[in-house]
Amino acid sequence: MTNTGRINKRDLLKLWQQKQVHQHIKRTIPSSLAFKLIGAVSGIWPIKEENGRPLLYHSAAVLYVDSKTEFRIIIEDTRVIVYLTHKPSKFTISPDIAASIQECLTFTLNDVLKFYLTTIGKSHKDKDISNLFQIEVGEVCDRSPCVISISEAKETSRWSCSRNHHLTKYPLFWVFDKTKEECPPDCTGLHSDALTMLPSDKHLVRLASQFDIDSCKQLILQLGLQEIHWKNVNHSYGHDALTLNTMMLYTWMNTKIKGQSTTKSFNNLHAGLKAIDADTHVLCKVFREYTDFSEFPKVGPEDVPNDEVLNNLPQKLGNCALHLGVELGLSINSIEQTKTDHQKMYDQTADILRKWKNLTEEKPTVFKLMVVLERVHLGGFQFVKDMYLRK
Ligand SMILES: [Zn+2]
Ligand SMILES: [Zn+2]
Repeated sequence: MTNTGRINKRDLLKLWQQKQVHQHIKRTIPSSLAFKLIGAVSGIWPIKEENGRPLLYHSAAVLYVDSKTEFRIIIEDTRVIVYLTHKPSKFTISPDIAASIQECLTFTLNDVLKFYLTTIGKSHKDKDISNLFQIEVGEVCDRSPCVISISEAKETSRWSCSRNHHLTKYPLFWVFDKTKEECPPDCTGLHSDALTMLPSDKHLVRLASQFDIDSCKQLILQLGLQEIHWKNVNHSYGHDALTLNTMMLYTWMNTKIKGQSTTKSFNNLHAGLKAIDADTHVLCKVFREYTDFSEFPKVGPEDVPNDEVLNNLPQKLGNCALHLGVELGLSINSIEQTKTDHQKMYDQTADILRKWKNLTEEKPTVFKLMVVLERVHLGGFQFVKDMYLRK
């Protein structure tokens, strides 16, 4: 540099050629890898939009999972940082969603590294690619990530930093084994924050699906309903166990129990289950989501099902108006209305699909429809899959 404060080209060149300058060059993740990672996740979850503009930047993106869940991916220097947010509470994040995001990113990273090794003439056959990067999990702590390695997290139930204490259970959702239907043996059940929450219609259906009729009856009597409630609901809905169980829980939610607060919470259900000596982990399972996309045809995450698919789908489905409707995001009230307006099963399903397509809260996508069909499991998935494979 000159003493005059002017910068000459030859000085810059001289500076560049000095050894120590090279040592100060920061190692960063190349843009091509950043694009590849964002591209991989955006093939499953759409890029979130705000005021009609996609939240996609040079090395960052915000992705939409559902109306309450989103994640942002930021590529910074040598780190890929992923923040998963679930509006109601971090304690009710679906472990399946966290694990699928991690698995998708890890798979892509492995693939890119293998490709890179091949292009520079090295074989990746004897190399354990996962040694080339490290995954850490954690929480936001005073506005910045507070992380520990997965192996450390697995060995303890909590860790402390200079500012806070953290539980490892929720950060470990990133590596949750989503092939297992049951809770892991060390599951401590719902967090006290989650227990204070009001169960939604979706939670009720998911809970109802885990009981036989007798256990559900035992539970609702324990929760404070009377034999007469049971008889009345059984009279109207007794033809189908899932509908009967759901409507029993729904009646409990909407009945003022003497000596108890009108507001119901997971706490009531937890206490009821304990009192009848039933497994309380059925409550953890209502937060599980279906995330096995391996059988899905290649459709864009934002593609909306066309009328041909929706008009022909009811004939491929069994009697599932309530389960299908609630999983698609309709309220039990609205489904009851459909059942009153339409007597025939196919007409009920058609009306539910029509209502779903016109919902404003969430975009009705082919992806969402297939997730729900797999979850409800009463047919239709193969039909929708074939319709999109044909194209
Ligand atoms: Zn911390
Ligand atoms: Zn559990």
